[in-house]
Amino acid sequence: MRQIALVNQKGGVGKTTTTVNLGAALALGGKRVVLVDLDPQANLSLHLGSVVGSGAPSSYRVLTAQCSFAEALVDTSTDGMRLMPTDIHLSGAELELAAALGRETLLRDAIEEWCKDGEPCDYLLFDCPPSLGLLSINALSAADEAFLVVQTEFFALQGMSKLLEVIELVKKRMNPRLECTGLIPCLYDNRLRLAREVLGELRSYFPDRVFATTIGQNVKLAESPSFGKTIFEYAPQSSGARDYTALGQAVLAMEEIATETEPAQKPREKTVDLQPHQPSAAPQPKTAVTDSPLREKGP
Ligand code: ADP
Ligand code: MG
Repeated sequence: MRQIALVNQKGGVGKTTTTVNLGAALALGGKRVVLVDLDPQANLSLHLGSVVGSGAPSSYRVLTAQCSFAEALVDTSTDGMRLMPTDIHLSGAELELAAALGRETLLRDAIEEWCKDGEPCDYLLFDCPPSLGLLSINALSAADEAFLVVQTEFFALQGMSKLLEVIELVKKRMNPRLECTGLIPCLYDNRLRLAREVLGELRSYFPDRVFATTIGQNVKLAESPSFGKTIFEYAPQSSGARDYTALGQAVLAMEEIATETEPAQKPREKTVDLQPHQPSAAPQPKTAVTDSPLREKGP
């Protein structure tokens, strides 16, 4: 079972859209997928047309030990894809849990209990909120992999060093299995020189981690949540559906690479340098990289 946290403390970069449509692409590829809504704004739940009734199971109730992980799962209209919805109660969880023992690993504990008789799914995707608070920490503590979801715009790299620092800290203190395995460029418009430059910079800072597939801007992706549908249900011929199919294939292909390399190096135990690679001749950034890791390390 691969457990992947889709993270970025910025909002509006494409985390929820990617969770829904990457999840759907994997489910259409025959995988058993579970999506976990960890954002109190409940965009993921609403995107899939799920509204949590008063007192009903939700990620909030799982974190506060009022129900089990399994009890909080609901089916979606995509075969093989289930959802753990949430509602606005989750916004109080950070405060409520502030004094709870082991508060950073509540989600992981619930998942371990759920998995004690075997692996109930192949992919567990965590849609993180736009902050690096307790909810994102719970996702990173439970996950084996972090996918950074990045919008290819002027401020793309701003805040990135903080995000990498938090991932590194969680890895060191709570979850040595955690690795930053992918960076997904979203809302990409290849007609814009700025977007192409940002993508080039991301690729030079994070070689081998930026997916070759970019998710282009596509109005169908923006429209589909209001119909409670994935892109494959709403507009299967759209460029958005094509992009997420390609991303799904790339994510599936990582399984093969991991299997091939397993005897030589156990991926879960290897130490990955989360710091971005510094190109030998660093390009002069034209984007806002004021707090990028490269800038910090630079001359
Ligand atoms: P996040 O979860 O990071 O806050 P969302 O996935 O909710 O970001 O996306 C923010 C907004 O942008 C939403 O209105 C969404 O529908 C829209 N959106 C996301 N990805 C795309 C895309 N590739 N093309 C067009 N609109 C998009
Ligand atoms: Mg979101």
